[in-house]
Amino acid sequence: MKLSSKLPAVGATIFSEMTQLAQECGAINLSQGFPDFDPAPELQELVARFMREGCNQYAPMPGVAALRERIAEKTRELYGAAYDPEQEITVTAGATEAIYAAITAVVHPGDEAIVVEPAYDCYAPIVRLSGGVPVPIPLEYPSWRLNWEMLRNRLGPRTRLLLLNFPHNPTGAVLSAEDLEELAAMLRPTAVLVLSDEVYEHVVFDGLRHWGMSAHPELRARSFVVSSFAKTYHTTGWKVGYCLAPAELTRELRKVHQYIVFSVNTPIQHAYAAFLEDRRRYLELPAFYQRKRDLFLSLLEGSRFRPLACRGTYYLLLDYSRISDEPEGDFARRLTREYGVAAIPPSVFYQDRTDHRLLRFCFAKKEETLRAAAERLRPI
Ligand code: PMP
Ligand code: GLN
Repeated sequence: MKLSSKLPAVGATIFSEMTQLAQECGAINLSQGFPDFDPAPELQELVARFMREGCNQYAPMPGVAALRERIAEKTRELYGAAYDPEQEITVTAGATEAIYAAITAVVHPGDEAIVVEPAYDCYAPIVRLSGGVPVPIPLEYPSWRLNWEMLRNRLGPRTRLLLLNFPHNPTGAVLSAEDLEELAAMLRPTAVLVLSDEVYEHVVFDGLRHWGMSAHPELRARSFVVSSFAKTYHTTGWKVGYCLAPAELTRELRKVHQYIVFSVNTPIQHAYAAFLEDRRRYLELPAFYQRKRDLFLSLLEGSRFRPLACRGTYYLLLDYSRISDEPEGDFARRLTREYGVAAIPPSVFYQDRTDHRLLRFCFAKKEETLRAAAERLRPI
C-alpha cells in the first residue's frame, strides 16, 4: 500500500526520543518536562474517593460543571477576567487537545498562523494538518524578547492566528503588562485571533507576575487561552487541561473537541474541582520551583555550562559553547550516552533548526536528582 503522509517531515517527538535514550543509557532524565515526584496525597485520595462514589461514566462534553466553576473563580481572582463556565470554559484532554481543537476550529486551508520560535513542538504540525501555513518568527537571542517590528511586518491578509506561549518553553521568557499593550495595539486593526498557551501560568519567578491574555480585555476578546493542570499539580500523566475563550470561539472549539474525545476523565475532573478550592496549592508554586531553579543554578556554579536567565517554567537553558562546538542534537545525545544526563536540544523548536549551542534541562526534579545531575555536569 502506498500511503501519502500528511506529515512527511515528522517522526517521533524529541521528548519520546530523548526519554527513550535516557532509559536505554540509564541516564538521569532532565529532557522531557515532567516531575520525578508524586502529586499531593490529598489529590490522589480525592481521585480514589470520586471513583468510589461512582463518578465513573462520561462527563458532560464541555467538562464537569464544578470544575468549570472553580476555573472561572480562579481566573477572576488572579486576572480580573470573568469567563462564563457555561459558554466560555471547556475542559480538555490536556493542553495538547485544547491546542489541537482551537487550531482545527479556526485555521482554514491557506490561512497563515504565526508561530513564535523556539516553538513548542505541536503547533506547526497541527497548523499543517488543517491545511494552514505556519509562519515562524524568532524571539530575539539571547534576550528572548518579541521583536514587535518583525511581528508587525509578518501580519498579512492571510494571517488567521498568532500562537503565543508565555511563560515560554524552552526559554523561560515571560510577558510584561507593556507587552500586552503592544500586542493589543498591534492587533487592533486586524482580525487575527490569538492562541495563548499558558500552561506555566503558575510558574513565574523573582516576584514577577503572569500577564496572560485574559488580563487584557481587548486581547481576551480575541483569544483562546489554554492551560493545564499537569504543571500545576505535578500530574503530567493525567492529561487534563482547559481552554478559556469568548462564547463565539468556544462554540467552534467545542464542535471539534466533541469529536476528538467528547469529554474528559470524570473522577479526575471532580478531584481537581475539589482541590482548586485550596488556593495555596497553586499560589505556592512559584516559590517551590524557584527554590529548585536556584538550587540547580548553585550546583552548576564553577562548571563550563553557562546558564541563561530563567524567569518562568521549569526549564533552564545552558550554553555549552565553552565545552563543544557540536550541534545541539549531537551534543545532547553524547551527553546522555557518555555523561549520563539527558536534555533537550532547542534547535528542534525552530523550523530552520537554528542552533545557539544550548540545551534545555528540566529542573522539576527531587533535590537528589538535581544534585546527581549537577555532579555529572560540573566536571565536563
Ligand atoms: N504546551 C507547552 C508549552 C508545554 O510545555 C506542554 C507540555 N506540558 C504542553 C503544552 C502540553 O500540555 P499537556 O500535557 O497538558 O497536554
Ligand atoms: N511539555 C513537555 C516538555 O516540554 C513534554 C510533553 C511531551 O512529551 N509531549 O518537555
